[in-house]
Amino acid sequence: MEKENKERLVKIIVSAALLAVAAVVSKIANLKMWQELLLFLVPYLIVGGETLKEAAEKLFEGELLDEDFLMSIATLGALCIGFLPGAESQFPEAVFVMLFFQVGELFEDMAEDRSRESITKLMDIRPDTANVERNGRTETVSPSEVAVGETIVIKPGEKVPLDGIVLEGSSSLDTVALTGESVPRGITEGDTILSGCVNLSGVLRAKVTKPFAESTASKILELVENASGNKSRSESFITRFAKVYTPIVVGLAVVLAFLPPLLSGYFGSEFAKWLYRALTFLIVSCPCALVISIPLAFFGGIGGAARKGILVKGSNYLEALANLGTVVFDKTGTLTEGVFEVTAVHPEIIDQKELLHMAAHVERYSTHPVAVSLRQAYPDEADNCTVEDIEEVAGQGVKAKVNGKTVCVGNSKMMEAIGVSWKDCEKKGTIVHVSLDGEYVGHIVVSDRVKADAAEALKALKENGVSKTVMLTGDKADVAAAVAAEVGIDEFRAELLPGDKVAEVEKLIAGKSEGRSLAFVGDGINDAPVLARADVGIAMGALGSDAAIEAADVVLMDDKLSKLATGIRSARKTLGIAKQNTVFSIGVKVLVLLLAMFGLAGMWMAVLADVGVMVLAVLNSTRALKT
Ligand code: ADP
Ligand code: MG
Repeated sequence: MEKENKERLVKIIVSAALLAVAAVVSKIANLKMWQELLLFLVPYLIVGGETLKEAAEKLFEGELLDEDFLMSIATLGALCIGFLPGAESQFPEAVFVMLFFQVGELFEDMAEDRSRESITKLMDIRPDTANVERNGRTETVSPSEVAVGETIVIKPGEKVPLDGIVLEGSSSLDTVALTGESVPRGITEGDTILSGCVNLSGVLRAKVTKPFAESTASKILELVENASGNKSRSESFITRFAKVYTPIVVGLAVVLAFLPPLLSGYFGSEFAKWLYRALTFLIVSCPCALVISIPLAFFGGIGGAARKGILVKGSNYLEALANLGTVVFDKTGTLTEGVFEVTAVHPEIIDQKELLHMAAHVERYSTHPVAVSLRQAYPDEADNCTVEDIEEVAGQGVKAKVNGKTVCVGNSKMMEAIGVSWKDCEKKGTIVHVSLDGEYVGHIVVSDRVKADAAEALKALKENGVSKTVMLTGDKADVAAAVAAEVGIDEFRAELLPGDKVAEVEKLIAGKSEGRSLAFVGDGINDAPVLARADVGIAMGALGSDAAIEAADVVLMDDKLSKLATGIRSARKTLGIAKQNTVFSIGVKVLVLLLAMFGLAGMWMAVLADVGVMVLAVLNSTRALKT
């Protein structure tokens, strides 16, 4: 427990004991009213001093209507009520209300700390120490003290503390903390390792490539912790609601205190009775349960999703996920593996080897999956040819000068753009055309495989209420049609440039039905504008890709399409909990308010209902974290 909470607990206990003593003393001894007041004032000030101070401070800042203020007015009123003619004193009530209010506050603080803690613990990716080699010895230091370029040693069973590249050793790493999926990955010299993974078998020596603050584990934790900044509509509704609701209730309380005695014409004991009801009314009006439990539910929902490898950057996106109506997919790397293989080489004029040679050279620096496959098909790419003036055209291909000759490698769009006539191919797959100094020199056919779980994942989306699925691709229509049929997607649009994809998404957004959201699912490579334009941009397979993590609203750490339906279900559950809390707390409040108005509920009951509802709502909220 934090120091602040410990202090609070001590105050509560001391004040409760003193309240009991005061209650007994005031029963036995025949005290004057002011003596009794002094007696009860001790436990009251012990437990409520802080609240009074805060309420007074806010009063000066012009911020009247928060719970500290309401509780202060109500309890101070209760302390004074006994001095009215014909009224009974309410000293114990006043102390009890303040006491119980503090119990509620304490509980609330603890619940919040607990869920924050459990998210970090559940995600379990924050490395505590790093073994770093310095001056020929291995020192154990905090990961934040390790500089880029230093060598770290990771023993079996340890967490990888910082991102790096393996210098020596081989092992397998468990990525469960990052992806939610326990799949060991084989790692050997030259491979990249990400912080947060657990080293399973061998000892690894690695060179640190990123400072701790920019390493994967820190970035993910930061993202989850900051997610509460992006408020969902239900959350901002609560804030707005509290703003309107509290003044209304205060107004009603004033009316309740003064109007009935005025109407009945005599002010004496009647006024005390109605004032008491009005003060009760104020206590009930505290919107604590909502103000606390709703953000907590979203926080828990985001944490729960993160454990499964689904990073949601704000509760507004959680809300959008829950109402998903249309899901738009990028093809390559999203619905397909994104690992192309060369399946045919059809040269014109030059020979096969030369064609592959040209293509591999031009693609030297491209990260596009097509480029990777072309480089693999020509393993001796690193010769002493010169490659200059490289220009990659998104959605088309790459142009470059190889040994002084202009070579263009890309699809038919690129050939048309440079005015070279091309030949079609009867082979199935993506056709990569090649031109040399403006002359067509043949094409290479590459093909990709549809992801094994794609069809099933799309079915699961439909079962979870998604009404339309669309695939967008820069590839040819026949390839697109084949993939669409294989995975069972509703519609597709082919031969799109990255800009066309944005336009298509805009059209789809304009045509969607009210209250439903549209998600775009891509891999973050050259689709950042579309990710940004969609209601929710979802990047897949983001493990190790900073670009994807940055561009998207929702990040799926691994490339499992089935995570989409999981995400929708988590989001729905969180929203459901938020709704239950709203209905339940407003319901109970209205009931007790009515009872108080008719004099059927006293202050005791009011504060019990207030804190009770809060506790139940907070407990309900913590369910969002569980999976
Ligand atoms: P998708 O929409 O399927 O993700 P892209 O927009 O990335 O595809 O690319 C569309 C098409 O452009 C590819 O199918 C390919 O024909 C061509 N292309 C893009 N980049 C390259 C490249 N580096 N080399 C060759 N062709 C490319
Ligand atoms: Mg793409």
